[in-house]
Amino acid sequence: CIKDNASITVFGASGDLAKKKTFPALFGLFRDDLLPKNLVILGYARSKLEHDDFLKRITQYITVNSEDDKQKLEAFKQKCNYLSGAYDQPEAFETLEKRLRELEGERDVRNRMYYLALPPDVFVPVVTNLKKKCYPENGIMRVIMEKPFGHDLKSAKELQAQLDPLLTEEELYRIDHYLGKEMVKNISFLRFANPVLAHIWNKNSIANVQVTFKESIGTEGRGGYFDSSTIIRDVIQNHLIQVVTLLAMEIPSSFNSEDVRDEKVKVLKRMRVGDIKDIVLGQFTKSEDGSKPGYLDDKTVPEGSRCPTFAAIPFFIDNERWKGVPFLLKAGKALNQSKVEIRIQLKDSAAGLFDDIYRNELVIRIQPDEAVYMKVNVKYPGLRTEPILTELDLTYSRRFENMKINEAYEALLLAAFRGDQSNFVRSDELEYAWGILDPVLSWLDNDRPEPLPYTYGSRGPAALDEFMQKFGFVHHGPDSYQYPTTR
Ligand code: NAP
Ligand code: NAP
Repeated sequence: CIKDNASITVFGASGDLAKKKTFPALFGLFRDDLLPKNLVILGYARSKLEHDDFLKRITQYITVNSEDDKQKLEAFKQKCNYLSGAYDQPEAFETLEKRLRELEGERDVRNRMYYLALPPDVFVPVVTNLKKKCYPENGIMRVIMEKPFGHDLKSAKELQAQLDPLLTEEELYRIDHYLGKEMVKNISFLRFANPVLAHIWNKNSIANVQVTFKESIGTEGRGGYFDSSTIIRDVIQNHLIQVVTLLAMEIPSSFNSEDVRDEKVKVLKRMRVGDIKDIVLGQFTKSEDGSKPGYLDDKTVPEGSRCPTFAAIPFFIDNERWKGVPFLLKAGKALNQSKVEIRIQLKDSAAGLFDDIYRNELVIRIQPDEAVYMKVNVKYPGLRTEPILTELDLTYSRRFENMKINEAYEALLLAAFRGDQSNFVRSDELEYAWGILDPVLSWLDNDRPEPLPYTYGSRGPAALDEFMQKFGFVHHGPDSYQYPTTR
């Protein structure tokens, strides 16, 4: 655990992630007094920025709600420094080392965190120079790296092979910010602290599992970047597969990072994509009223692109607990709503006592409006004898009214200072996750399947509901519920 004598250097400090996430998260930890004592904060990028411009940039997404927070923000600004320099020139890193030493002052121990908020093609030059010029002789070095870690299995292995001689696994923190989200961290608590759930958590009770990512905005001018990434690389390969590993893993022997990640890897080893023919791919077209553009209308998107902006993919985990249970991973942009949720549908009740009994469903709403709710059948209130579907409802904003849920990046930065890697991705996890999707990615790249069109603002391609039915999901939405008309 790094408690003092520490510095954090944020590379790419002029960029989007730095201003939206990294610096606001550092401020959140500073405000709550959770950063190491006398931490030195340095932003680094090629852009030549005046100190005030830099401060303006990194604080524009920080909101302060009280006088106390306002003062803390001023104090935080005093701690933030900026240095302009190249990523690929050793001399620039000599200057960086000098500047860090000036800011750190005389110290016996120099604990150094380097946060790479940078495009992946500069990861290796930066780490090479850090190792040569800015490696603390006496102290801990940790490098925090943002996705994407490669483009497919081959490139991920190549990147790792280049990093291997430079960093140990203990020094490298690969961020998947979903692992810092409150409700994702909650999965293990729900599963392992509640016998009522632990006992149903298997193929005997569960019919299907959905992990859904929906965004109501399209690519809005960022299509060029998205086109080579696709919704599969951007969301499914990393965030959603990580969620599945936490849902499906066996109970780890402790919450120690290696114990947890060992169990997650065991899931990945047994996980596979179902039949490629079943995958639903979609691409959004303009909204019904024409006010929102289609994907191909984005000037930054290559003409005639077949990039999927929506995908629904069935996965299976061939082990004793999960054999035969479909894990349906769905992700899409320009849909009817923005949400990320896990939906676990239980098998039909065996009783035979009721005719139209509904299935139990456990929903874990990751964002927005964190919630856990279970759809259950109860007796229709009053003199009727029919069942009615309702929810056991734990909506966080109601139950934990005065509690604050920290941003994922705050949780992860704090964990990195503490040396807790359990919510960071280990190299073998990464490799297996790419390996599972490799057949799909080769199919996309080689066969260039045509995605199905769907209207901006809809639930996705029409084929989605057929896909869901095929894998056994039974929809009993409020719309489908027929209130009994007779008493
Ligand atoms: P960005 O704004 O495009 O880049 C960050 C900084 O890197 C830029 O300000 C620029 O600074 C430098 N840079 C840009 N292109 C470069 C190039 N080709 N060669 C060398 N330096 C270059 O990226 P970002 O959105 O902040 O994202 C940074 C990393 O985080 C990426 O790997 C991204 O995939 C990942 N990520 C981003 C988000 C997000 O919300 N933005 C979310 C998750 C993950 P200088 O020119 O001043 O050096
Ligand atoms: P729901 O509308 O009953 O079910 C939503 C699910 O059904 C999603 O998986 C959705 O798929 C699918 N679906 C929607 N329309 C469909 C269609 N036409 N055909 C096939 N599948 C369809 O909503 P719910 O989330 O389970 O909520 C049930 C009740 O609980 C609601 O009254 C809600 O207000 C309440 N509740 C909500 C919260 C909360 O969100 N915080 C908390 C407690 C209780 P897609 O996602 O792919 O569209």
